[in-house]
Amino acid sequence: MPELPEVETVCKGLSGVLEGRRLVHVALHRPDLRVPFPAGFADRLTGRMVTAVRRRAKYYQWLLDDGWAVVGHLGMSGTFEVSPPGSNRPPPGKHDHVVIETDAGAIVTFRDPRRFGLMTLIPQAELETHPMLADIGPEPLDDVFDGAMLVAGLAGRRGPIKPALLDQKVVAGIGNIYACEALFRAGISPRRGCDSITGKRAARLVAALKAVLCEAIASGGSSLRDHRTVNGELGYFQHSFAVYGREGDPCPGCDCPGGTVQRIVQAGRSTFFCAKRQR
Ligand SMILES: [Zn+2]
Repeated sequence: MPELPEVETVCKGLSGVLEGRRLVHVALHRPDLRVPFPAGFADRLTGRMVTAVRRRAKYYQWLLDDGWAVVGHLGMSGTFEVSPPGSNRPPPGKHDHVVIETDAGAIVTFRDPRRFGLMTLIPQAELETHPMLADIGPEPLDDVFDGAMLVAGLAGRRGPIKPALLDQKVVAGIGNIYACEALFRAGISPRRGCDSITGKRAARLVAALKAVLCEAIASGGSSLRDHRTVNGELGYFQHSFAVYGREGDPCPGCDCPGGTVQRIVQAGRSTFFCAKRQR
């Protein structure tokens, strides 16, 4: 599933195509994705200008010039593809559910074979309070997100840190890949209790989260299955994974000779880590 770096990569690609452009033609090729599109969705978008493209957690947001915002989620397999103006675009394929043309002649296509994606309309004034977005925790790349803020997010929480990092109320946009990678970098065991993530240890984890997310964004995200940039290119951060998906490999940490990457299951999800390095 796409996490923060993959959604950020898609938003960066879309901002160059959509920001300041008017949507002159919008075609829906089915009535729903995970849930139905809002009534009159295509008509409500047609003629609108996109004033900004942003990301919040794993959601993309296109602010429109009528006070509404298109808010969407890539689900499991959703991708956006941009055909530049004047390019010869083949007719929409079976999984091309939304096709949007801008006044510059670019075509933006949302493709989602498994249809776990989401695309809806929310008033911009409600972006912080809408039930879908209200309970989301801090953005990890915001300057204000620090160790103290992570500690506050974990307050009162029992159980190990790794599943807690996947809870969007604690910190936004983190999924299985970047939780594993950040804990490895911070040298913190995924089994360590949330109540012991304090002080310097919390600061180390926050620094590791920021670093791994920034590197992943610079790599265009991780393409394990479906993730593509809007130009159809693969992200390549998967080649930089230290532990994720590397069960049985030698640990790449230099300070734990003989360490091996292990896999355990926590809250139903695989966790990859080095028991020698991560305490
Ligand atoms: Zn190790």
